[in-house]
Amino acid sequence: MIDKAKIEEAVKMLLEGIGEDPTRPGLVGTPDRIARMCEEIFGGSEERVAKHLSTTFDCDNNDIVIEKDIPVYSMCEHHLLPFYGKAHIAYIPDGKVAGLSKLARTVEEYSHHVQLQEQLTAQISDALMKYLQPKGVMVVLEAEHMCMTMRGVKKPGAKTMTYVCRGEFESTLIDRVLCMIK
Ligand SMILES: [Zn+2]
Repeated sequence: MIDKAKIEEAVKMLLEGIGEDPTRPGLVGTPDRIARMCEEIFGGSEERVAKHLSTTFDCDNNDIVIEKDIPVYSMCEHHLLPFYGKAHIAYIPDGKVAGLSKLARTVEEYSHHVQLQEQLTAQISDALMKYLQPKGVMVVLEAEHMCMTMRGVKKPGAKTMTYVCRGEFESTLIDRVLCMIK
């Protein structure tokens, strides 16, 4: 899926485009380095999400489960600059629970694409509903966007909060989750 030769070519052109000489010693290895980095930061896969969330454990207690402060690193699709922060996942099981690390893995797989924070939040929620099939899901993301801090409006510290609820998630439960992730 990742075409490393194409990325290397594009990085060389970008360097030329900004007035650099891609053959100078400091830059000669950069296209290859970026191509390899792209495999890591854009190599997310929905297939792996399906596998992570389909491995479940039976559980009689259907009370809410919250995994909070999951680190998120992704790339904004408008500027190709990083946005990073935390994800919080809450769900109401329906007789089965996911492995806790698999929730963090799900966040990671969807973060490893060019993204919109709003879309990332929805994708995590939808994947949980589809593969884990809980009674309800709530996902909250809080992130700082480098396109807001190092360019444009230049407002470091400003955070974007997004949240998505799916299934049975009444307002009292939403308040409870928001209180617990503070
Ligand atoms: Zn942006």
